[in-house]
Amino acid sequence: MTGPAHRAEIPSGAGVRPSVSGSRAEIVVDLAAVRHNVRILKDLVTVDGPVQLMVVVKADGYGHGMVEVAGAARDAGADWLGVATLDEALALRASGDSGPLLCWLSAPGDDFAAAVAAGIEVTAYTVAELDEIAAVGPARVQLKVDTGLSRGGAPHAEWATLFAAAAAHEAAGRIRVTGLWSHLAASDEPAHPANEQQEAAFREALALAAESGLDPDVTHLANSAAAILRPSSHFDLVRCGIASYGLDPAPGVSPRLGLRPAMTVRARLVMSKAIAAGDGVSYGHTWHAAEDTTVGLVPVGYGEGVPRAAGNTASVWVDDSRRPIRGRVCMDQLVIDLYGELPPPGTEVVLFGPGNLGEPTAQDWAEAVGTISYEIVTRIGGRFVRRHVDSEETTR
Ligand SMILES: *Cc1c(COP(=O)(O)O)cnc(C)c1O
Repeated sequence: MTGPAHRAEIPSGAGVRPSVSGSRAEIVVDLAAVRHNVRILKDLVTVDGPVQLMVVVKADGYGHGMVEVAGAARDAGADWLGVATLDEALALRASGDSGPLLCWLSAPGDDFAAAVAAGIEVTAYTVAELDEIAAVGPARVQLKVDTGLSRGGAPHAEWATLFAAAAAHEAAGRIRVTGLWSHLAASDEPAHPANEQQEAAFREALALAAESGLDPDVTHLANSAAAILRPSSHFDLVRCGIASYGLDPAPGVSPRLGLRPAMTVRARLVMSKAIAAGDGVSYGHTWHAAEDTTVGLVPVGYGEGVPRAAGNTASVWVDDSRRPIRGRVCMDQLVIDLYGELPPPGTEVVLFGPGNLGEPTAQDWAEAVGTISYEIVTRIGGRFVRRHVDSEETTR
């Protein structure tokens, strides 16, 4: 799947350019890296027993392409796929995926009948949702309990009621409760007391569910950080999103696992030119050259999801060295410092990539703009053309 069909023209007035191969600006996703990461995660969690791996591909595979990532994840041994919305789950089915698939964020008006017909497992937080699902059953349903995140899921006071309703529907043959699960608030901080508290609360929910006559196939609590850092949270299954894409869910805390970032974001230089000491760069002149230098124009901006906050903070990679962004990031373009060099139009500019050549990573960008790598990779898009490659196919 390519990115959005709409692509901007390179701004005019940039002088004569040599013919440029490749896109103006593209997101390249290496599916071999996804497979590599999925294998590492699967090996990690199955060391002590038969824990299943769910690869989370919501939000268009964290910006990497849901359908392509899903295929790579299945190839590498993912037991399950997980998405947030029913529409995402239906899109996966439409693409041909037929394996175990869970979605967990239904909204009023969602078509549970379509999900059930497509063999998608849905999640219920409330008795009302459960009744709606049972009405279009027989359905495979997982129950989500809130153990302390205070986001989705049944609050503690409603567990018994939810479980009783589920058991009644199950006895009547309208549903099968296939799973019971929850989600952690601070798994990227292993010493945070919420981890211990939530795990204890989850065990309490499991006991109560058993007392209510439920016998779910899978119980699960862990996301990527907990899969990596907290074996006691693994239960039957772990739900790994960010780590499947090769990014570290807990930077500075996780052990080195050899994960490989799958996404590279690159563009081609439109022009380079000299500016004089004292010249201001980009809107508002938030940066002035301290000495004579050269700058390059990169044809991507916040219209493509490049954070505006990256102005004067993040760097890109040109000709084997890091070049800082100078001044504000604009809607369609940004300016970088080339330190006196004048690379020709068409020169490759890597915004971020796996980092193995020294180029910035999504994690570097996240730190530069005060966010997490999840947001960097998930928001990048817009006029970038996305392309999938398979480095194992080309190098073997
Ligand atoms: C997004 C999500 C995950 C994946 O989290 P990562 O930190 O990316 O591994 C797991 N479970 C739920 C419920 C989620 O919403």
